[in-house]
Amino acid sequence: MIIALAGNPNSGKTTLFNLLTKSTAHVGNWPGVTVERREGVYKDKATGERHSVIDLPGIYSLSPNTPEEVVARNYLLSGKADVIINIVDATAIERSLYLTTQISELDCPVVIALNMSDVLAKRGIDLSADEIADAAGLPACKISALKNKGIAELTAAVRAAASDKSRKGASLVEQTKLGPVYLKIKELLTEKGITHPAFRAAKMLESDPPESGLDAAVTADADKLKEGAFKDEKFGTDVDAFIADARYNYICGRLKTVSAPVTLTERVSKADRILTHRIWGIPVFLGIMFLVFHLTFSEDLFYLTLFGLPNGVPGPGVAMQTGLGWLTGELIGAVGSALEAAPAWVGGLLVGGILTGVDSVLSFLPQILLLFLFLSLLEDTGYMARVAFIMDRAFRRLGLSGRAFMPLLMCFGCAVPGAMATRTLGNERERKLAVLLAPFFSCGAKLPVWAAVCSAVFPAHSDIAVFGVYVLGIAVAILAAFILGKTALKGEMPPFIMELPDYRPPHIRNTLLHLWQKMKHFLFRAATIIAGATVIIWFLSNFSFGFKLVEETSKESILGVLGGAFAPIFAPLGFGTGENGWKFVVAVFTGLIAKEMVVATMGVLAGTEDALEIEAGELAGTSLGLMLSGLSGSAAFAFMAFNLLSVPCMAAVAAAHAEFKNVKFTLFAIAFWIVTAYVVSLAVYQIGSMFEGLGFVGGIVVLGAAALVVFTLVFNFLRKKKGKSCCGGDGCGGCNGCG
Ligand code: GDP
Ligand code: MG
Repeated sequence: MIIALAGNPNSGKTTLFNLLTKSTAHVGNWPGVTVERREGVYKDKATGERHSVIDLPGIYSLSPNTPEEVVARNYLLSGKADVIINIVDATAIERSLYLTTQISELDCPVVIALNMSDVLAKRGIDLSADEIADAAGLPACKISALKNKGIAELTAAVRAAASDKSRKGASLVEQTKLGPVYLKIKELLTEKGITHPAFRAAKMLESDPPESGLDAAVTADADKLKEGAFKDEKFGTDVDAFIADARYNYICGRLKTVSAPVTLTERVSKADRILTHRIWGIPVFLGIMFLVFHLTFSEDLFYLTLFGLPNGVPGPGVAMQTGLGWLTGELIGAVGSALEAAPAWVGGLLVGGILTGVDSVLSFLPQILLLFLFLSLLEDTGYMARVAFIMDRAFRRLGLSGRAFMPLLMCFGCAVPGAMATRTLGNERERKLAVLLAPFFSCGAKLPVWAAVCSAVFPAHSDIAVFGVYVLGIAVAILAAFILGKTALKGEMPPFIMELPDYRPPHIRNTLLHLWQKMKHFLFRAATIIAGATVIIWFLSNFSFGFKLVEETSKESILGVLGGAFAPIFAPLGFGTGENGWKFVVAVFTGLIAKEMVVATMGVLAGTEDALEIEAGELAGTSLGLMLSGLSGSAAFAFMAFNLLSVPCMAAVAAAHAEFKNVKFTLFAIAFWIVTAYVVSLAVYQIGSMFEGLGFVGGIVVLGAAALVVFTLVFNFLRKKKGKSCCGGDGCGGCNGCG
């Protein structure tokens, strides 16, 4: 048996899917987390049978607007499912049943699962599943997917429903004044042997375009039947609106028989008054994000001295990193001494190559996990969905809607799922734009680069510096969106409608799962790609072109020669010069394949001779630390800027291409990323180095001011070109000009 899960976004489909199939698919407290259908196997305890369960992206209706909604609709129409579980958020029944009125038109058994019943119970509302079943005309069960309640009843209902395969869809349109035409069209479709005639007849009346797949002759006949058949005082000839209205009226009418209050009073929570405030929303968000970065990267919580604690207490991220660093340092040391008797190259390859390379990346695992723990908590509580809402106004000016916030936010984790998540965007232009911006949002693999560079070059301010890199990425994304939106990707802005999920306490199991998956992914890449690549890098940096072992990683080595050849291109960016210039250049190039490679490469190239002396988590004493601290402040920032903005990794390029489906556009994207990286990095170094004497804080202020000037110039230039019909007020820019 194949069971399909269908329902509104954020109603708990994936939670139920995970529960039934014991899988660990990502669950998030915002709409649009599942964009592809997902399949799992469910073993029915009562009968011992195994069934397939399909998790579908969330939909509000069966008339899709976005690609992910098409996925859901096409699946439901394909007839593959033996039974559909329609998941209904029991705290928002009225809205959810709109979809139910369409699902019940399909020729397929349907069971309603009233999810989130635990929330109802907490609010003291006693909803009767039987009454809802009567109102909707379909079997219904109360469940809580999160608390694993009511699942046995649900599966029993599913079995019962599936045994009656003969269920024919019925539409409430039959009972409206469109009834006679509707029945004629349905009859015609039935005669022609077309599947789901009840559903398709309603859709034909609504002139839903995806129905074009049908036989043209049938459509023409149906159109003839439809012609002139409808005229309404309120809706004119707008059949579409009439049917939507009829659906709502039908639901409201039927729900009157339900004794529990189903229209739960909208409660704008006190928290939302501040968190989604017009003015305070964004500063509060930035404040929260800064706190997160501070706890993750700060090496000295200096204000703790106010509470009588000693100076130099590190934040939790750095403390855990130090612990792990001590452990791996001891381990590498032990391996090193065990290998003393072995030939020099064995120790060099194993300790100086593989272990050092992998360790230099691995040592940032605690900070990555901590950062994702915070982000996952913010997501789970529902706060991130609010941020999408407060960002909408700002995004709109950039040619994106607030909906794009979520895919872009995912890019802070990894650009691959981020690019995939752009399928929630209804508009092709907006989707392309979002994918183009994806790499500018610093992903998890880039984090070790920031952490290593910042702690070596700006030891006293590493938290601010890392935060600065993130802000730089966002600023570039804004600027790029603005420029692209006015040039290569001009177009209409779709409206943004998103429902704010309820605030929920974070769910420990979800959070831990999320972290576990991040860690698995990270360790897997460390053990495979990074370990493998460090061997190659070690080899290329220890042998010359004549395949002679060179003394130590030097300019005569293969990589030294290659890196040296490209170094002049990067000299104007500040990091292609000097003794170690070629090493940074090689790191930048390996970073185009995968960003984890940047630190691993630098770790190997920094030199093998004192790799054994890595002190507990202290980058400062290591050869990598020494090499990095040779960078000036502005060169360090330029180096980070280039890594941040250039091609993120091969996997991301493949993911972007899967969205663009156009080789030319993918090539354009690659060029766009590299050029942006070069230009921004050049500006950072050239401006920054002029003010090097001002120190860290002065440098940040200068770069910030320079960014403001660039922003103002670009915005004004592009706005002027828009034409005179715009009202032109100072805060204007919300419209695209009316003439
Ligand atoms: P989907 O978009 O329909 O796949 O929904 P998800 O499965 O991703 O869940 C959305 C949110 O609802 C998550 O925060 C879940 O933890 C939460 N959730 C799901 N089922 C329940 C439930 O039965 N009770 C409560 N309180 N929360 C739930
Ligand atoms: Mg989902």
